[in-house]
Amino acid sequence: MSAGSSELCYLDHAATTPVRAEVAEAMAPFAASHFGNPSGGHRAAAAARRALEEARDSVAEVVGCEPGEVVFTAGGTEADNLAVLGTLAAAAELGNPLAVVCSAVEHPAVREPCRAAAKGWFGAGGSPVVLREVPVGGDGVVDLEALEALLDPSVALVSVMLANNEVGTVQPLTEVAAAAHRRAPRSVVHTDAVQAAAWLDLPRAAVGCDLVSVSAHKLGGPKGVGALVAREGTRLRPLVLGGGQERERRSGTQNVAGAVGLAASLRLAAADRAAEWERVTRLRDRLAAGLAAAVPGLSVTVPGERALPGHCHVLVPGVDREELLVLLDADGVCVSAGSSCASGALEPSHVLAAMGIEGEAARGALRFSLGRASTDADVDRALAAVPAAVERLCR
Ligand code: PLP
Repeated sequence: MSAGSSELCYLDHAATTPVRAEVAEAMAPFAASHFGNPSGGHRAAAAARRALEEARDSVAEVVGCEPGEVVFTAGGTEADNLAVLGTLAAAAELGNPLAVVCSAVEHPAVREPCRAAAKGWFGAGGSPVVLREVPVGGDGVVDLEALEALLDPSVALVSVMLANNEVGTVQPLTEVAAAAHRRAPRSVVHTDAVQAAAWLDLPRAAVGCDLVSVSAHKLGGPKGVGALVAREGTRLRPLVLGGGQERERRSGTQNVAGAVGLAASLRLAAADRAAEWERVTRLRDRLAAGLAAAVPGLSVTVPGERALPGHCHVLVPGVDREELLVLLDADGVCVSAGSSCASGALEPSHVLAAMGIEGEAARGALRFSLGRASTDADVDRALAAVPAAVERLCR
């Protein structure tokens, strides 16, 4: 079974993407014969170190930073945790009262560490952390006026994602960063670019950010590897202590094959971006229009022009998303509700709630997410399967 094959209609690229053949090929030697520890002193180590540093150069070029600013991590979640807790821990050392400002639609990888910090993660002796959430509009875009009102010199961290994983909304990040620097001059600005990295030119889109998180498996790379870009001079306490790798910011023997895979996937995504943006937008728009025409009452949650090209989030009235997902899966159509927890169970979506969509309206929420592997045939399959499944459930 492979994504895009006749037996599987895979429309869940926001959850994860198939590993690109070129990425697997680039990684292969480092998963086998080139096994050296990059910290060692002999030639086997030197080969691994060279590959790691070339991967770092490559990531830096795509993200728009210096190689020394790239901290390899074990994925997007770790990068986000390091950004949030590492920044707050560094600021707490100064002993000031701390506020953290994040949007109401952040991924749990940002939201949970922010909440943990506010609940005393730093222990009784640490500075109290106050969490301030920026509301969003019905389209999921942060309210810039509300953001301005929440910013003041006590803010140590502002974290606003570049694009949302559930509904695909792209945030006005340049304005967010500018407001943070103007009204909270001591704040560090972080963006979770895990969903956006496949689609947006990060040097431009994340301008003004001090910290940027990326993850390989959202753009044709392997799972369990990512990076936090930490601009020179950004105060960051490490969360993983040990041998001092990654310039003391993240200890542990590096995942060389993973770093090579992350670099290759970022490079390839950047090279394909313009053509894929156009191709996938066309597929997504056809899917959205087709679903709206075929399913009575179905609405598209975020207009295409506000969202990433691959995202098509819809609300289907009168059906339960869990039942709908089961029927679609039985038909070989893989989509998601966009808010599963680790067990796969569906949780009420804090993203939809923040957008004012709750209760009965949120019951039929479904996320289609297209990507490099998506084809017209996938859209045709979904356009046949979804109306049929909805009709069965409404009978
Ligand atoms: N941030 C966003 C916006 C995501 O969509 C995800 C994954 O779904 C993550 C962070 C976590 O990344 P990872 O799966 O690499 O830990």
